Amino acid sequence: MLPSEDAFQAARGNMMPRSVLSRCARLTQQVPLESARSTKHGVHRGMSSVTIPPPACMLRPLEAPFRYLFGPGPSNVPPRILAAGGRPIIGHMHSEMFGIMNDIKKGIQYAFQTSNNMTLAMSGSGHTAMECAVFNIVEPGESVLVAINGIWGERVAEIAERMGAKVHTLFKTPGGHFTNAEIEQALAKHKPVLFFLAHGESSSGLVHPVDGVGDICHKYNCLLLVDSVASLGAAPLLMDQQNIDILYTGSQKALNAPPGTAPISFSERACHKMFNRKTKPVSYLLDMTHLSNYWGNDGKPERKYHHTGPVSGFFALRESLAILAEMGLENSWSHHTEVAEYLWKGLEDLGLKLFIKDKDLRLPSVTTIAIPEGYDWKELLAYIMKHHQIEFTGGLGPSVGMVLRIGLMGYNCNKANAAMALAALEDALKQCRKSKA
Ligand code: PMP
Repeated sequence: MLPSEDAFQAARGNMMPRSVLSRCARLTQQVPLESARSTKHGVHRGMSSVTIPPPACMLRPLEAPFRYLFGPGPSNVPPRILAAGGRPIIGHMHSEMFGIMNDIKKGIQYAFQTSNNMTLAMSGSGHTAMECAVFNIVEPGESVLVAINGIWGERVAEIAERMGAKVHTLFKTPGGHFTNAEIEQALAKHKPVLFFLAHGESSSGLVHPVDGVGDICHKYNCLLLVDSVASLGAAPLLMDQQNIDILYTGSQKALNAPPGTAPISFSERACHKMFNRKTKPVSYLLDMTHLSNYWGNDGKPERKYHHTGPVSGFFALRESLAILAEMGLENSWSHHTEVAEYLWKGLEDLGLKLFIKDKDLRLPSVTTIAIPEGYDWKELLAYIMKHHQIEFTGGLGPSVGMVLRIGLMGYNCNKANAAMALAALEDALKQCRKSKA
């Protein structure tokens, strides 16, 4: 179930009390702004040099409403993870922090089903991991093949293009998928160093088959990069057994941590390519030679400062990986499937059409519904938000105007929430009928 208002209040507990805020406001008002004067050595002591007053909004407490986040992410964060993220921070280079990062690495190895040493969490969202993979593996002028069947392929193609790769694409309209024969044909033709595939294509609601793709890539001396931001923990994926070379995910979907950290792992083969480059990666922040040291993966005795990691984000990520480990991956996969099937049946009972026809290709975490005829999809979403405080979303990129998306992931994934989502949709379908015509 969802966090209670109590948990919400607890999470807000570190806000400054109103009395302190109003005292701050009085003090700032006492400073005569018009008397500010600078001298040739800088600002005159005791005088204010500021000409922009503190904004009124900053003197009010933070307000964030409670919402049921039943879209494609972020999803609601359970109190246990909120509490972990709210613990007092420690230094990013303290030995205890390194211990926590080591735990995170083990948690990711379990979630990804990999024994790769080069496993870590990026400081940043899913896009950070996406850029990290491309920037470190590919050198300018090298050939990259990207499977585009929704927005995520489009994004990776653009990232690769920006860093100077020769980008080739395999294309399907949203909802389509690629056969291994089609992939092999394109690999033989373009001879890429990297092939990208989205496992959980969240803009179309498709879970892409991965079996055999790694073997085909290796036959053509190509590395396989897979995006599991929307599918990790919700649909089966086995990094080592499926011969995936680089796998990344995000913290804010089935893992239920707040947005802002992104697990990633590199195979030996991927490490060989990225640590034997002729050129440096275009990004200093995302350079794996530095990150591998920061995460204690490079075998050197000393972990050096590279950047300040998101300490609270890592606490929360550790807790979310702990919850997945306690539940067990296979239980998590079957639980997502069971709830998704309940939702799919309920949607069909409402007379709606699921966008992905083949049940086996439906992403259990994010369900796509063909926009019902005679309705304005934006009006449906706005109605549901206003009257039910529930977030669903429309399509993204090429699927805009094609689908509505309902995401039930991790903590949000249960039949009670699915029933709530169905009731809200049924109500909206009654109230917004024919408004499009
Ligand atoms: N890949 C997929 C499949 C996603 O669903 C998302 C987020 N919607 C991303 C990548 C990008 O992640 P982020 O928004 O955390 O950068």
